Amino acid sequence: MSKIVIFLGPPGAGKGTQSQLLKERNGFIQISTGDLLREAVKNQTELGKLAKQYMDEGKLVPDDLIISLIKEKLQEYADKNIIFDGFPRTIPQAESLDNLLSRLNKNVDAVILFKIEDEEIVKRLTGRRVCPSCGAVYHMVYNPPKIDEICDRCGARLTQRDDDKEEVIRKRLEVYHQQTKPLTEYYKSKIVEIDVTDNPNNIYNKIASMI
Ligand code: AMP
Repeated sequence: MSKIVIFLGPPGAGKGTQSQLLKERNGFIQISTGDLLREAVKNQTELGKLAKQYMDEGKLVPDDLIISLIKEKLQEYADKNIIFDGFPRTIPQAESLDNLLSRLNKNVDAVILFKIEDEEIVKRLTGRRVCPSCGAVYHMVYNPPKIDEICDRCGARLTQRDDDKEEVIRKRLEVYHQQTKPLTEYYKSKIVEIDVTDNPNNIYNKIASMI
């Protein structure tokens, strides 16, 4: 029987990194609504055009858009082990997921709550820089380039993602506390908390032993 796991937690907690590891090492399918939306924005699809403004402001994209996106993906991967990364983010999204899963005779097996302080997130995300040319990712404190703001690999000047600016991060955190945190109550019986200030490999080992 395939497994359905949800990664719940604030932006910048490392949900994407851990999903990637479970995908590579355990064959899970990763469904990240953030990645799907960024792809839609890049390709300038109808969904992308509708979503962009919400994303730039750090707000949530409306539930109906997200739910139809998920419906499509669930049909595609009905019999696989799935990690939902960054979904659901509201109670209506969680209720819709339960409905969609019950039609497939499935349910959510585990919810992993990534625990980290807001100030640590601000520190992590404001320091993140990306190379617009080759895609390398740096952190100005934890993983700085050799020469200030210049990519080690290709020499391009590093940039900051629009939604990694401090005011947008603070907005994303506020939205998380108001709209997403209530899901911890919704999933009370299935939730396992995990401290994510440890290094990514130790966190991976903990998660892998739980699911
Ligand atoms: P993420 O990469 O998961 O932090 O998502 C980036 C942005 O995409 C968020 O700040 C939201 O604007 C939007 N987004 C991603 N997932 C959802 C979701 N499940 N519900 C609503 N908006 C979302």
